[in-house]
Amino acid sequence: MDREKPIVVVSNCLGFCECRYNGQTIPDRFVEGLEPFVNYIKICPEVDIGLGVPRESVRLILDNGKYELYQPGSGLIHTEKMDNYAKDFLGKLQRVDGFILKGRSPSCGIKDVKVYYGREKGVGSEKSIGRFAFHVYNYFPHKAIEEEGRLTNLNIREHFLTRLYTLHRFSFVKEEAKFSKLVDFHADHKYLIMAYNQSKLKELGKIVANHEKKQTKVVIDEYESILETVFDTLPRYTNYINTLMHMMGYFKKELSKKEKEFILGSFQKFKDGKIHLSVPVNLLKGYAIAKDEQYLLRQLIWNPFPEELLDIKDSGNR
Ligand code: SF4
Repeated sequence: MDREKPIVVVSNCLGFCECRYNGQTIPDRFVEGLEPFVNYIKICPEVDIGLGVPRESVRLILDNGKYELYQPGSGLIHTEKMDNYAKDFLGKLQRVDGFILKGRSPSCGIKDVKVYYGREKGVGSEKSIGRFAFHVYNYFPHKAIEEEGRLTNLNIREHFLTRLYTLHRFSFVKEEAKFSKLVDFHADHKYLIMAYNQSKLKELGKIVANHEKKQTKVVIDEYESILETVFDTLPRYTNYINTLMHMMGYFKKELSKKEKEFILGSFQKFKDGKIHLSVPVNLLKGYAIAKDEQYLLRQLIWNPFPEELLDIKDSGNR
């Protein structure tokens, strides 16, 4: 494995293996494009618990108040096998940064998975989470976890990549366990974290200040517990604009009236959904380069993930 790249567990049927119940595979453009930039661990939970290919399909049911993984063709319940497999696999993962799972699957889907009331079809249904994905959230509640369908949405995709790569960068701080590395990480991510959550940025700043002179490992663990939650929700555009305004403050006094109007106009266009975030971000970066603002130039907000992964196509799906 290449230590420089994040580790992502991916559903094997997303173009890597013909392992679906009907012997098919479903290639995915984003999953394929991401492969050179991550270390994939490819798994098929249903094959791994011995269901074979092709197989009778399974479905989630609510049976006597319990969610079960049921295979109507064989009449068998596979919940316990799946639970044991998931706990064993996830418990043994030494390192992992994210998951891309197949949507709507009774095993891998992370939301909107159909759950039938009882073993017979046609008696009503509700939506829930796949059985394997349920354990993924239990073991790794704050990792980057998505399904391929939702990743066609631009905001969800960029949020996923930002979380994936930021937590991956932090894994080096944990590994090296040096206070100076934590200070650097915090400085480099200041404006990215601010764009997500200003109050958590303050909490993290207090942890790094370490007025109580705690041991480095304790400080890093405390920092991680807050950092992970920074990415629990997508950033709001108002937060991003506030952050860009802060950054503009570095050279605001040196700007002409027309330059200021042009920059603020780009913030407004971003707010109105007329341009992508990268437009005002790159505009500010141009000024940071021209003014040689070293503290701004080291910020990860410019490129929270590899630039090659930037793709502004948006399905609008959620
Ligand atoms: S959705 Fe999951 S369990 Fe189903 S075929 Fe794909 S990898 Fe296997």
